[in-house]
Amino acid sequence: MLSYRHGFHAGNFADVLKHCVQVEIISYLQKKEAPFDYIDTHAGAGRYALTSDMAQKNREYMTGIGRLFKTCDLPGLQNYLRLIEALNPQQSLQHYPGSPLIATSMLRPQDKAWLFELHPSDAEKLRHCVPRGRQCQVREEDGFAGLASLLPSRARRALILIDPPYEQKADYQRVVDALRLIHRKMATATVALWYPVVERRRIEALEKQLVASGIRNIELYELGVRADACGGGMTSSGMIVINPPWTLRAQVQALLPPLAAELGVNGGGHYRCEVLVAE
Ligand code: SAM
Repeated sequence: MLSYRHGFHAGNFADVLKHCVQVEIISYLQKKEAPFDYIDTHAGAGRYALTSDMAQKNREYMTGIGRLFKTCDLPGLQNYLRLIEALNPQQSLQHYPGSPLIATSMLRPQDKAWLFELHPSDAEKLRHCVPRGRQCQVREEDGFAGLASLLPSRARRALILIDPPYEQKADYQRVVDALRLIHRKMATATVALWYPVVERRRIEALEKQLVASGIRNIELYELGVRADACGGGMTSSGMIVINPPWTLRAQVQALLPPLAAELGVNGGGHYRCEVLVAE
């Protein structure tokens, strides 16, 4: 049952933090000439028209990129904002890139991407917005299952983005199982796991499982726009990063306070930037 469509949510405050962290990790990996592999287990459609009925339904992009585009000069957002601007050369904000488009627009000839998307129409859209060929493969398959067959990845350096909808509660357990699998098969990979805060207790349980997992070098970055609530939808979201670039925490630590001030609703912005498990 695939009811989730990212088109309703593209460019919201959660996407801003997720994609900013993604861009900074890829930029860091590209400081070395050696190739890296990008694996996106839940890729989405790749490119979103913010003028579409879906995006206009709740105008969620106005909780995120809509508040930053052309007005924000935070240094920590510049790499990310440049990509959004490149997709909107007409100067007004009309399109938003999803994680696979962000990644593939940054790939060098030696890098490769595997993009998993289970929803048939989003997979079809994805095929049309990323380069075809050996460098980039779109797979209309379960990303949790497909991941196992790719590890350890050929380049031996990898960013794995795990970004499920969490509409099925089983996703909270499947992400932990995926992180354990990656740790067993490719412990050096950088993994970026996105999570929503809809019910805080679910994220506390997720953190506890990770702390007890034996996996080391885990950081957590979270941006909230409203105080936690039960039943009122997503109030915060975050990224849990395993094997982050050593520079990333300082970058995110500098970015989160002004971003929370900018995007918080009625001054209710808040953030976390923590080491969950040390190296
Ligand atoms: N990563 C995208 C981005 O940042 O632009 C957004 C992805 S969206 C949150 C989650 C996507 O996962 C949806 O497009 C959904 O159809 C897809 N999906 C759900 N379950 C999946 C699965 N088991 N394997 C692969 N894709 C799945």
